[in-house]
Amino acid sequence: MRDLAGYLQRRWQAGLFRRVRTLHTDGRRVCSDDGSWLTPFCSNDYLGLAGEPRVAEAVASAARSHGAGSGAAHLVSGHRPAHEYLERELAAFLGRERALLFSTGYMANMGVIDALSARGDTVVQDRLNHASLLDGGRLSEARLVRYAHADAASAAERLQTARGERLVASDGVFSMDGDIAPVAELAAAARDQDALLMVDDAHGIGVVGDHGAGSVAGAGIGQDQVPVLVGTLGKALGGSGAFVAGSAELCDYLVQAARPYIYTTAVPPAVAEGVRTALSILQAEPARRHHLRSLVEQFRDGARRRGLSLMPSDTAIQPVRVGDAEAATAWSAALAERGYLVTAIRPPTVPEGSARLRVTLSAAHTERDVTGLLTALDAARERATG
Ligand SMILES: *Cc1c(COP(=O)(O)O)cnc(C)c1O
Repeated sequence: MRDLAGYLQRRWQAGLFRRVRTLHTDGRRVCSDDGSWLTPFCSNDYLGLAGEPRVAEAVASAARSHGAGSGAAHLVSGHRPAHEYLERELAAFLGRERALLFSTGYMANMGVIDALSARGDTVVQDRLNHASLLDGGRLSEARLVRYAHADAASAAERLQTARGERLVASDGVFSMDGDIAPVAELAAAARDQDALLMVDDAHGIGVVGDHGAGSVAGAGIGQDQVPVLVGTLGKALGGSGAFVAGSAELCDYLVQAARPYIYTTAVPPAVAEGVRTALSILQAEPARRHHLRSLVEQFRDGARRRGLSLMPSDTAIQPVRVGDAEAATAWSAALAERGYLVTAIRPPTVPEGSARLRVTLSAAHTERDVTGLLTALDAARERATG
């Protein structure tokens, strides 16, 4: 039998023990077990829509009328008008023929990769892709080949020697680094070699591009170049769930073949109503995106002036590189003492020696919040370097 206690002890000793914290929230700040209120700088609620009263009200009012849950999978009896409208509105927003809802982004990636590849095929992935893309490659029995991070030439090279049907998969915005994938170059490489390209834009939808339509639209390309687009509803859209957007044929195919679509309960229709409201606010209020952009610039300028180690990102994800796992934990604790919640990201989520504070900015933050965080980062570093 597996030695669970031994495993836990080793994790603990290595400073890598993962712990779930219960945090209360008033919609803006979170409250930790010791009763102190912290401003979060680590959520993926980039536009502040998860705490937006109009979104919360849409969820509440839909739940009062239609109940708390969908009660079944989409194919059984769980597909409601709220889901149907949301799929159409997402497709229109993204300039795609159709969209298909999944219950989580993790499942969307598993479902898409499994449905689009089989034993004898090859899935070509960026080395730093999200865990769900890598796991999707494992579920299908296709061969997994990884290319150098954000390097379309490396992807093209891998494609040349790959067997069977080839699927190229990349994050749109890399979740732990914040940089944007070279989607236009990847699209060209995929086209040249007759491979299919899928982009998971979990952190780009709502944030990147002139209209917030994400990193694919931001690169000036569309459904022809990137036939498979995955996005989540739990990040900038403030709710929960995910979607795949592309051709009607692709969506029809996934309904037949994507097991994580078929065998799971549809997200509650009230959540879908909340996301519909969030999507319309996102489109009607570009000021949220502009405010976020100016906070990103403020943070980068301030961090640079203080000599903090930033990464080459101009999205809402602004990691501060710290080095070893223990130091990252110590910085995080020092920030909490000053009223800021930033989680330390440690190996194996990121490569050994590149532990970091994954700072994320949100339109819900103010300039003063960002100034306060920068001051607290200074103090955290001073304490760490003693
Ligand atoms: C968060 C995330 C997912 C998973 O989405 P969930 O809806 O939270 O399961 C998938 N891909 C990327 C790149 C992500 O950041």
